[in-house]
Amino acid sequence: MNVDSISNGVVIDHIRAGLAFRLYNLLDLDNLDCPVAIIKNVASKKMGKKDIIKIDSQTPIDFDVVGFVDPNATINVIKDGVLVEKLSIDMPEKLTNVIKCKNPRCITTVEQEIEHVFILSEEDEKVYRCLYCETKADI
Ligand SMILES: [Zn+2]
Repeated sequence: MNVDSISNGVVIDHIRAGLAFRLYNLLDLDNLDCPVAIIKNVASKKMGKKDIIKIDSQTPIDFDVVGFVDPNATINVIKDGVLVEKLSIDMPEKLTNVIKCKNPRCITTVEQEIEHVFILSEEDEKVYRCLYCETKADI
């Protein structure tokens, strides 16, 4: 794959430097068969440094996961070499089964069947809390 040009795929751009690998893991990109490139510490006029993820396939992306990791990231959808969609993302109000609560006494740790739900509690501070025990999530 030429990392500069993708003809059909998805480019997640303007990721805050250092967060691309976290996003890669949470989006489960490891399970894709297609080429995926993480480009770290790219010079950016606006941001100083940024990370970029390029996926060489029309893969559906979970916007909630991107919004959780970095709501300032942008998602570019490329078809036949043309940028067809440029999407900005909001922080999701609620995250279901994306991250797990780290509190060992949380009911989600004890009960296997319960969904892992986090709620956006302080938007300015980008804080998510476990629905059940209110433990703060790590981005
Ligand atoms: Zn919890």
